Amino acid sequence: MEIPLGDGKQFPAIGIIGAGTMGSGIALTALYAGAHVYLQDAIPETLQSAAEYAQKFLEKKGQGEYFKNLHLVESLEGLAPAEVIIEAAPERLELKQELFQKLDAICPPPAILASNTSTLSVTAIAAATAHPARVAGMHFFNPAPLLPLVELVRAAQTDPAVIESLHALTLALGKTPVVTGDTPGFIVNRVARPFYGEALRLAGEGAATIEQIDQLAERGAGFRMGPFRLMDLIGIDINAGAMRSMYEQTFGEPRYRPHWLQMQKLAAGELGRKSGKGFYAYKEESEAAKEEPPAVGGGLGRMLVSEGNWAPDLAELCARAGYQVDSVAEPDAAPAACFVVAGRAEEAARLAAWYDASLPPETPLFVQCADITYSEAASWLQHPERLIGFDGLFFAGGEVVTLIGPDGPLRAQVEQVLSHLGKRAVWVGETPGLVLPRIVCQLANEAAFAELEGVADGATIDLAMRLGVNYPQGPLEWGAALGWTKVLGVLDHLYAEYHEERYRACVLIRKWAR
Ligand code: NAD
Repeated sequence: MEIPLGDGKQFPAIGIIGAGTMGSGIALTALYAGAHVYLQDAIPETLQSAAEYAQKFLEKKGQGEYFKNLHLVESLEGLAPAEVIIEAAPERLELKQELFQKLDAICPPPAILASNTSTLSVTAIAAATAHPARVAGMHFFNPAPLLPLVELVRAAQTDPAVIESLHALTLALGKTPVVTGDTPGFIVNRVARPFYGEALRLAGEGAATIEQIDQLAERGAGFRMGPFRLMDLIGIDINAGAMRSMYEQTFGEPRYRPHWLQMQKLAAGELGRKSGKGFYAYKEESEAAKEEPPAVGGGLGRMLVSEGNWAPDLAELCARAGYQVDSVAEPDAAPAACFVVAGRAEEAARLAAWYDASLPPETPLFVQCADITYSEAASWLQHPERLIGFDGLFFAGGEVVTLIGPDGPLRAQVEQVLSHLGKRAVWVGETPGLVLPRIVCQLANEAAFAELEGVADGATIDLAMRLGVNYPQGPLEWGAALGWTKVLGVLDHLYAEYHEERYRACVLIRKWAR
């Protein structure tokens, strides 16, 4: 089938099965671009409300005349004029297989059959039809009229010409297509798994609260929404369903293991925004997230920053705030604080012990704890009560920063130093990889596994994550910017601490680090 492009484009007639959240959004996207849409749903009222939604939106955008291109149909037979059918019925394999089987007779080849499934095997859906070569996945993101990404899923049987046609159609709809292999979760739902999975484990282990984790993700690393806020928006049932489906399809890959916190929410009927309560109770937004960043000061005395791989960023930050930065401890000049940022644990141990012996005991001693544990660092010191563990990877860029340290007056002293640096402390419990290094390095690890397994190339994976879930950077470009040696250091540290396969580093990361 030919799908013309550009100005004066003539769209194929588009059939859509299901007028729910996704079907109605895809219909609107196609109408807005100028296509004829045959929208089908088992429930007449759902069709009616989808039509009202489309009419309002099109009129608001000054495209009211396109509304006449919407044809509501109550049976599958009504889809006969369609040349491309996009199925957006509920996420159940048997239902989708039954629908595709029926379409064999109603919409014979060369019509293209596409499924908007998020996690099911498109190959298994295609296998139910007499002409599997014309079946592919066409995965839009919610809200479909707004989000630019569409994943085109190549099933084992898909004819490459079908992907080409859908590619052209996606562009003509004003969206960005990325082609992906038919593996569980495709690109976006798969690579995003650790964002939720690691956040759930951190909260489940009591290392940090959900508010702290969200705050760090949003204001420490630049994610548009923290993992718990996002799970509440998506629906905890939908998110947990995707997790479970991926876990089962991969025969128990530990990176996708569902978490008891999600299951507890499901059992309580707390599904997120749609049920008024999820990880948060709605109407009461977290106050912490609304706080303004502290002001930056000036003329603040000395700050010691050791040599090491994060030292230049940190030294620049301290100098900009008004500290006089040095790396040598002098007996007569007590600094405001001292940062130890060496890359290797042995070097960090040597430097930390040296500063500990040289500085007055009331000086806070910061040691980066992204790839070593706080208790290990404490064992190097004669004055462990002054030890502050901090997150080396995200410290310089974040507005809020992760810290571990003893309760007591030292915290106020440290918070004052931080406020001079324009930062606010989030005090968490001792946990391997802290919060952001653990989440971001596992995202990069998942992206590397997806590349290794041929789901898509690295640039496509990064693009998909930026456009599909608004990540501030693609996970692979992020890993490269942090440095693959550091990413590998965090992953190996997590593996050494937990002895779990979940934290095995992808061989590609090991190679890139070398
Ligand atoms: P939904 O429940 O909002 O809509 C499904 C619609 O299908 C309902 O209107 C229902 O009446 C209709 N339906 C049920 N059985 C039918 C049948 N036999 N024939 C015709 N219509 C039938 O679901 P949704 O969120 O729009 O999800 C649809 C698909 O899109 C799923 O495969 C889902 O995994 C996928 N998806 C969802 C999202 C999301 O964020 N909601 C994002 C991307 C992909």
